[in-house]
Amino acid sequence: MQVLIVEDEPGYVEALTVALDREGFETCAAYDGRTAVAEFFEKGPDIVLLDLMLPGLSGLDVLRRIRSESTTPVIVLSAKDAESDVVTALELGADDYLTKPYSIRELVARIHAALRRASGSTAVTGDTHEEYTVGAAVIDPSRYQLRIGALAFDLPRKEFEVLEALATEQGRIVSRERLLDEIWGITWTDSKTLDQHVRRLRRKLEQADDAPTIETVRGVGYRLSP
Ligand code: CA
Repeated sequence: MQVLIVEDEPGYVEALTVALDREGFETCAAYDGRTAVAEFFEKGPDIVLLDLMLPGLSGLDVLRRIRSESTTPVIVLSAKDAESDVVTALELGADDYLTKPYSIRELVARIHAALRRASGSTAVTGDTHEEYTVGAAVIDPSRYQLRIGALAFDLPRKEFEVLEALATEQGRIVSRERLLDEIWGITWTDSKTLDQHVRRLRRKLEQADDAPTIETVRGVGYRLSP
């Protein structure tokens, strides 16, 4: 597995190179945006770690170029004060993000998770509808139903749509803005509605052992973890 590290601070590149090498990854590095795009298309890495603040071409521009032709997983590594850039990056198709300073252990875990997701979608196409499987949970759009083991919940429509939106992303972060736009459309006025729906979903999920959990990603959105 080859990792392209896009980062203009040599200290970070060095630390990442050593740590990822220890984990058995091959690495290559680009220190500015233009080189990053060139390296990406030349080497075809399995995953990209992308700093957003770069000289030349910004990280968001690099991401746009990559996503115009490729679905290779991209994990954004961003400074703490660039929250709106993170939201934009997720909307542009970044798979995950970590805020600096991040722990290498967590980064490695996220890399493995992103590679796992990229290697196979778990959506199962049935005869008439598509069910999603997330960990022990089955999400059934034909009946607005959530099933976990022996438990089955018939969900109100909006609640189901929140769960479905999180499930289709399989562990990726879904921004609050996107959920509000896609599920409530232009009519939404109070984003607390979203929190209430998430709370009700959590109460149902918590009734089962080994159910997936809905994590809050502060200031950004939610993620469904198996
Ligand atoms: Ca930087």
